[in-house]
Formats: sequence, C-alpha cells, structure tokens
Amino acid sequence: MHKKLFIPGPVDVLPEVLEKMATPMIGHRTKDASILQKSISEKMMKLMYTKNQIMLSTTSGTGLMEGAIRSCTRKRAAVFSVGSFGKRWHELAVGNNVPADLFESEMGQPTTPEMVEEALSTGKYDLVTITHNETSTGVMNPVKAISDVIKKYPEIVFCLDTVSSLAGTKIDVDDLGVDICITSTQKALGLPPGMAICSFSEKAVEAAKQVEFRGYYLDLLSLYKYIQKKDHQYPSTPSLSHMYALDYQLDRIFAEGLENRFERHFEMAEIVRDWAEDRFALFPDREFASNTLTTIKNTRGINVGDLNKKLGEKGYMISNGYGDLKEKTFRIAHMGDRQVNEVKELLELINTLI
Ligand SMILES: *Cc1c(COP(=O)(O)O)cnc(C)c1O
Repeated sequence: MHKKLFIPGPVDVLPEVLEKMATPMIGHRTKDASILQKSISEKMMKLMYTKNQIMLSTTSGTGLMEGAIRSCTRKRAAVFSVGSFGKRWHELAVGNNVPADLFESEMGQPTTPEMVEEALSTGKYDLVTITHNETSTGVMNPVKAISDVIKKYPEIVFCLDTVSSLAGTKIDVDDLGVDICITSTQKALGLPPGMAICSFSEKAVEAAKQVEFRGYYLDLLSLYKYIQKKDHQYPSTPSLSHMYALDYQLDRIFAEGLENRFERHFEMAEIVRDWAEDRFALFPDREFASNTLTTIKNTRGINVGDLNKKLGEKGYMISNGYGDLKEKTFRIAHMGDRQVNEVKELLELINTLI
C-alpha cells in the first residue's frame, strides 16, 4: 500500500506530473532541449521573483549548495545555522577546503539580524549562507530583516537555502538581494527527487571569476557561461525526464496562482500549529514557525516510531525528529500538492492513536 506522505521530502507527486517523467527522450543538444530548458528558466524566474539567470543541476539541492560555497567564496564564508541543514553548509565548506566560520543559534531559535551584523561588521567575510526554512527544527528565518543587514555589505555574496520552502511560501529573490537562491524538486515544488535549481546573480558571476579552483561538475561559473553561450543548454547530460515534469508542474503552479498556493500552505500550517499547541507544543516560537512543515515538541512522551508504524497501517506517514531531535520532536510536512482536507484527515487519525 502506498503511504500518503506527510514527510518533508520526498513528497507525493501527482500522477499526471509523474507521467511527464515518462516522456520519450530527445537529444540534449537539440533545439527542443533548448526550448524546454528556456521555458523552465522563464517560469522559475517568475516563481523566484528574479531577473537573475536560472541554472538547473542534475543533483539534489546539496549539489548546488556545494557548488555555491566553493565557486563564490574568495576570502571566507560566514555560515549561519539553525539546525542540521545549516550545518551542512559548513561541512561542505570544510570538505572543499573553503575557509568558513559557523554561527549557530540555539535549537528552535532563528538566525537574528544582530548575529549577522556582528559577524559581517568584522569585514572578514565575502559570502554568507542562510537557511530560509530549516527542515529539522521547523524554523523559518526572518529573511527580510536579515537581508536588510546583508545589503549594507556590498562585497557579500548572499546564498539562501530555500530547498524546503520555495513554491510553498513567497521568496522574492531580487527584493531580498539574494545572489544564489537554491531549491530542490522533491519538496514544496512537488516533484520526484533528482534535480536542483538556483538563481545566479551578476555579483555571484564576478565573485566566481576571482576563485581559481571551483571544482568541475559543480563549477557554477562554467555552468553559467555554458547556459549563456549555448542557448540554455547544459555542459553534461541533464535529467530531461525531470525537466519535462518540472516544466509541466510549473504550469500547474501558475494555474493555481502563486498567492493561492502560498495561502494554502499557510492555512495548512496554521491548522497543524493549532493542533500542535492544543495536544503537544510547537518546537520553535510560533513567530518563526515554518509554513511548509511543523516540528512538534513531544511533550506527551509518546513513542513516535510506534505512532508512525500505526499510521503506516492506515496508509499515512509522518517524520520523526531529525538527528538529535529524534523522539524528542516529530514533524508533519504540509507542502507541495498536499491539501487542507488531507491535513485535517491526518490530524483526526493521530487523535485516535495518541
Ligand atoms: C532537504 C534539504 C536539503 C538537502 O536537499 P537535498 O535535495 O536532499 O540535497 C537542504 N536544505 C534544506 C533546508 C532541506 O530541507
């Protein structure tokens, strides 16, 4: 039996979207490939509210995170972390011999503009990474206030991880001054895993030109130049199957309407938050709670593994806490094409099991 997924990726994919993955292959150097890739770029620009170049990568989101921190850090990166995915940026820097410092918030707390100001005012850094939506703690960072600080430092390349939030909540890339905005297909976009997408600003291009060793497959400058020169084509063979599905899913997203889509995510989040506060407690402060997933503090000391097993027998699946937060918290994702009535259905079922 297929379990209905309420986990923060991969998410359930609608059958008609999944079917697009079975579109017959075309040559990746054909005009048709250029047309498909250009179509996706234009739609992604709209979804990201940006005029910057869109780049696709046949990796998951972590691939583009690695490419970004390695390709664009000239001096030193300031990595702000509010959980496991924030720390990943630092591990990527260390693994690539990129100088970086880690600035961690207490679990469940956001990155504050003050922390960013304090770090950047030292003048030591030329790249910043921020996790927009931390999928372990369920914190959505106050990215507008953070971006106001970053804008005061024109040398900074601003990298934003929106892997679990883009297409589920508004991220205005150009207004926020984000240089590299990164997302993956398998979360709020509602597609199978295997492709990542980013925007790439002129500032990021100029920064990368000053970095000598940018790797090869994830060298974002060479990717950028290739796309520009070869009419949206890619240096190596991309997952055309994902591209067909992505192009179609973006049409579906615009047909729903961006505001409607963001509102649906917010509504689902509010329902889960109210339920969590009634039955348990929210892990982050409600002010910083994510619109795409909710991390719930296990105040009743239930056995989360057992609950999930019982849910599984009924055809549903939620997530245990991530890493150290396992059993101390659990997570309910409400992203992609999940609907309000499905979320209510799940919560009613959990009520009968706890
Ligand atoms: C899932 C996730 C990642 C990792 O993305 P992959 O596509 O699995 O590589 C990074 N950051 C956040 C916030 C995530 O939720």
